[in-house]
Amino acid sequence: MKDFRSDTFTQLTEAMRKAMYEAETGDDVYGEDPTAQHLQRMAEEITGKEESLIVSSGCMGNLIPHMIKGGRGKEVICAPESHIVRHEIGAVVSLSGTLPVLVPSDNGIMSAEDVEKNIHGYAYDMSETAMIETENTTSGLIYPMENLRGIRGIADEHGLWVHMDGARIFNASVETGISVREYASTADDITFCLSKGLGCPAFSVLSSTHEFIREAKRCRKILGGGMRQIGILAAAGIYALEHNIGRLKDDHEHRAAISKAVEETGWADVRISATNMIFFTSRFPMQNIIAAFREKGVLFLEDGGMGRIVTSLNVTDEDTEETIRIIREMKESEFSR
Ligand SMILES: *Cc1c(COP(=O)(O)O)cnc(C)c1O
Repeated sequence: MKDFRSDTFTQLTEAMRKAMYEAETGDDVYGEDPTAQHLQRMAEEITGKEESLIVSSGCMGNLIPHMIKGGRGKEVICAPESHIVRHEIGAVVSLSGTLPVLVPSDNGIMSAEDVEKNIHGYAYDMSETAMIETENTTSGLIYPMENLRGIRGIADEHGLWVHMDGARIFNASVETGISVREYASTADDITFCLSKGLGCPAFSVLSSTHEFIREAKRCRKILGGGMRQIGILAAAGIYALEHNIGRLKDDHEHRAAISKAVEETGWADVRISATNMIFFTSRFPMQNIIAAFREKGVLFLEDGGMGRIVTSLNVTDEDTEETIRIIREMKESEFSR
């Protein structure tokens, strides 16, 4: 099977398993896991932030900043396409009490002007803007630095916190050559995922100031995310940061080649094609297309009414070539069976 469902389906490599096997461990709730500590120090180096904290998942890494900087009567400005709105079961609302204010966006990318128009100051009967969320990449699209800098400027003017959901920030960074540190400089805190394109079994890392991480650690505990000998998982993260960042370029090349083949069919319209993701529409029912490809050993999913193809370290050069051949040979009649 050639698996394009998500970059979360990556299988652990032998080398990563070996790193995990050999990891030194301790009780991380007491800050005594040396491998977890090492991973956090690496994240600080990468993001340029004072302190980092391992969190169970990207969802937890997004929720904690809303618990600290948002809350009841507070608003977060974000794009309607953002992960916190569409894929986290409303946790920022139900668990942190923060109200998302959705501003117009270009496929998830907001302009500084639209952000500014939606800032609410104090009023006796209104919730108040506390924070802004940017997501980079968003549906595979890279946030232009100009927008991020503009949003940073507006946030500074109004004294607002900026949280960056950088689940796939390394995809942005290898593509543009802009360092994660530079992207992170436009936000007050940033979270990145180890369990997506980097190929780890679990974890995200949240980075910010000492003061913020001190509070984040308590929120993590509240959410049931205080774990013990996590060095065994942190070792996978260290391995991934050392070996799996540069190779994301391969995923992007595979995406570009497959995207070209999809564009050339008469039955698909590519809507978004960037970094490791393709979104396309079709006049045929998407579930029929997905079923026809599944029969030929190619897996992908439907997301928001569109077909979504995601490249990752699951997909080799040969898989890409083979997939392109299958796309080219696919007959429209297969979609109406
Ligand atoms: C996957 C993802 C998350 C959440 O990560 P989990 O580890 O699945 O909780 C958050 N934001 C974005 C943009 C993501 O793609």
